[in-house]
Amino acid sequence: MHCPFCGADDTKVIDSRLVADGDQVRRRRECQACQERFTTFETAELVMPRIVKRDGTREPFNEDKLRAGLQRALEKRPVSTETVEAGISRIMHRLRSSGERELPSAMVGEEVMKELRQMDAVAYVRFASVYLDFQDVREFQDEIRRMRAPNKTDD
Ligand SMILES: [Zn+2]
Repeated sequence: MHCPFCGADDTKVIDSRLVADGDQVRRRRECQACQERFTTFETAELVMPRIVKRDGTREPFNEDKLRAGLQRALEKRPVSTETVEAGISRIMHRLRSSGERELPSAMVGEEVMKELRQMDAVAYVRFASVYLDFQDVREFQDEIRRMRAPNKTDD
């Protein structure tokens, strides 16, 4: 890390501690060239990638929209709020850990289908039929067949 005073490359960490309940690391650094000291803060990147829609436009990731999509599929199905929230966390975690700054909306759809497949077959079919926009009955049957073979995952 460059020294903010003289621009030298050679700076040394002289102290490092956790702050903000462990969510941040505070480091004291000393420049080896001019001996000035400065502080840096390191925080985990928790920003969700932006979503690239099918038409190429970008929009911020929207957790409420994700939740609404799941809830619509799960309407009147015996799945607890806790289960849904855990699914949402897993989806967000996977999207974040892709490390990409932008992700296609199709990838969010795939993640939702993965979760719904585990939660409730009816909800899964509801979501998939709208999301995948099945062109004909055969496509739909193929998808159902895939779903009924839980040991055969494509990832
Ligand atoms: Zn310096």
